[in-house]
Amino acid sequence: MGSSATINAIKRRLSVRSSQDTLSARVRRTLVSTLYTQPASLAIGAFNGVASTAIAAWVSGEHILYTGCILLTVIAMARVVASLGLSPDQTHTSTQKLELVYEVGAFSYAFVLGGIAALTIALQTTASVEVLMIANATCYGVGICARNAGRPTIAMGQLCLVCFPIMAAALYIGSLALLALFVNMLLLIPAMASITLNVFKVLRDSIASAETSARMADKMQILARTDVVTGLANRAGLNHVMVESMMGLKGDQQMALIWIDLDRFKEVNDLLGHPIGDKVLAEVANRLREVAPEGATVARFGGDEFVLYGPVEDRREAERLASEIHIEVMRPLRVDGRSLDVRVSLGVALMPDDAKDIDTLMQRSDLALYHAKVAGRSQTSFFNPNMTRDLVRRREIEDELRSAIMRDELSIYFQPIIHLETGKIHTFEALVRWFHPEKGELRPDEFIPVAEETGVIVTLGNWITAQAAKACAQWPEHVSVAVNLSPMQIRAPGAALGIINALREANLDPHRLELEVTESLFVDDNHATAAFIEELSSRGVRFALDDFGTGYSSLGYINSFPFSKIKVDRSFVSGPNVGKKTDAIIRAVAELGSQLDMDIVAEGIETIDQVHAVREAGCTLGQGYYFSRAVPDYLAAMLLTQESDDDKPARAQA
Ligand code: C2E
Ligand code: CA
Ligand code: CA
Repeated sequence: MGSSATINAIKRRLSVRSSQDTLSARVRRTLVSTLYTQPASLAIGAFNGVASTAIAAWVSGEHILYTGCILLTVIAMARVVASLGLSPDQTHTSTQKLELVYEVGAFSYAFVLGGIAALTIALQTTASVEVLMIANATCYGVGICARNAGRPTIAMGQLCLVCFPIMAAALYIGSLALLALFVNMLLLIPAMASITLNVFKVLRDSIASAETSARMADKMQILARTDVVTGLANRAGLNHVMVESMMGLKGDQQMALIWIDLDRFKEVNDLLGHPIGDKVLAEVANRLREVAPEGATVARFGGDEFVLYGPVEDRREAERLASEIHIEVMRPLRVDGRSLDVRVSLGVALMPDDAKDIDTLMQRSDLALYHAKVAGRSQTSFFNPNMTRDLVRRREIEDELRSAIMRDELSIYFQPIIHLETGKIHTFEALVRWFHPEKGELRPDEFIPVAEETGVIVTLGNWITAQAAKACAQWPEHVSVAVNLSPMQIRAPGAALGIINALREANLDPHRLELEVTESLFVDDNHATAAFIEELSSRGVRFALDDFGTGYSSLGYINSFPFSKIKVDRSFVSGPNVGKKTDAIIRAVAELGSQLDMDIVAEGIETIDQVHAVREAGCTLGQGYYFSRAVPDYLAAMLLTQESDDDKPARAQA
């Protein structure tokens, strides 16, 4: 325990050290690069030195000074050539190399210049030549020292290399004036050293703090563009990427925006808690990262929405990518020992095919996603221009549905189901109608799916059942009422209780209520469904299997659940597809019904011929426009009164 804590402390210290090192390396590079800035000042200095030496040589006639002049020229030219080949802006040139090249050039130049000035003293040329060269050399030394304060060792090295030969020559000659010069220069060096170091510190600190704040700014920007749960880009991050990519977009390049939404993720969060939900999101993010093609960006838009944005060849490639996403996400997923089934819906739009700018691209893929969800989830939908109109209507319906019950815009209509032998009403099926003040009558096919999508179906369904039960309580005892239930309504917590309450409030015998469910309810094996059916059938409520023949038509659940009726879908009874085959199917189902003691209802009967056909095939009950459309409750009551009136003379005769 103790030793591991020590190791960690060392590691921490090392990591701090290494980050400081990288910081100082960057600062050092910036400082070294100051050596290479303003090459003009270098050139002027070099020119001055060369020109002054040439004049000194000419005036004094000393040959050795000509040699010095040539040497200075060669060094100055070599430095120019070297600095042209090396630039601190080129990252491949190492800082050390930059520094070394500068050092060699600077030191040799300074030493030669100082040497020439020393020679003018040692050779006892004229006073003016000496003044010229001493002034030139010391000015150069002081000037360069200030200029190169960013690298104090180089600066001080240059100053010393200029001064030392002059000081040596001054000592060698030993006159009073030259000894005073010696002392002057001796004092100059520490004075310049302290100035240089001060300048250096200020320079270093300001570069370091500029570095630090630039790095902080970079870090903040990265954080602001990253989603914390998944580490993917967030909305701002994706926006940034999209704007950047727009600028580099070539003429024929297509960019795909795939909007990805996890199906029923809210249930995962609600049932298993947010920590598990977050893990699921992180795993989905990993999988999306894996399928994302090169150059693509994956982002999370809060909640359970992800976006993949990237280049594609064409629509086909976008389709391929979408199906890869489905496959990858659907792979078995385990979180905390639990295996979860994750599915996604995808909406895709392409730029420039579907949208010319980013905002439109986003809107259109979002729209495509909405359609994918409405079309039954776990699907991919590509944007098409018709989507806009449909969607506006759906969104309006969504907004208004919640208040429709309150505003009394919904009604229940009743369509009779007739006993085919006696022609008498056996049941009324309750069918909801929405009379919208502006849109007119809306069909349930239009708003029930929206109600399911938004969860309003639970409230709506309870209200429908309550109304239907109330109406039925007014009818003769042998007439029952059938109510359609959506799978989502059944799976909602407290679903059975809603129905039991409706029965109690209407004071209706549970035997007189029949619940119509479709096969889709049994597609995923759900414990809640089985419990719901068991609870209610134990109280006497009956169940009918609706729209039989349109789904899986598996006989498995007919066996395992207590259905009292099977309703053969209307596409087998009327319409373009009716023929020998459908007739044979109805016969088979009717045969099954009589064996299992279930009623078989033929839906969608529109003509007398169809009545004969289904009766002959063995159906016991019939429903359809031939008998009656769905009617308001008062008309349903009238139909029943008529029926009992018709009965009276017959009974009187008997
Ligand atoms: P469904 O349960 O199959 O209801 C029968 C539908 O067929 C009704 O349409 C009815 O008006 C129509 N129909 C009846 N006879 C004929 C006929 O002879 N020919 C033709 N062409 N159609 C006929 P509706 O009322 O528009 O309902 C459509 C669907 O909406 C229903 O299909 C049901 O799935 C759903 N729905 C209706 N009311 C409710 C409800 O209260 N709750 C739930 N969850 N779903 C409902
Ligand atoms: Ca029905
Ligand atoms: Ca039906």
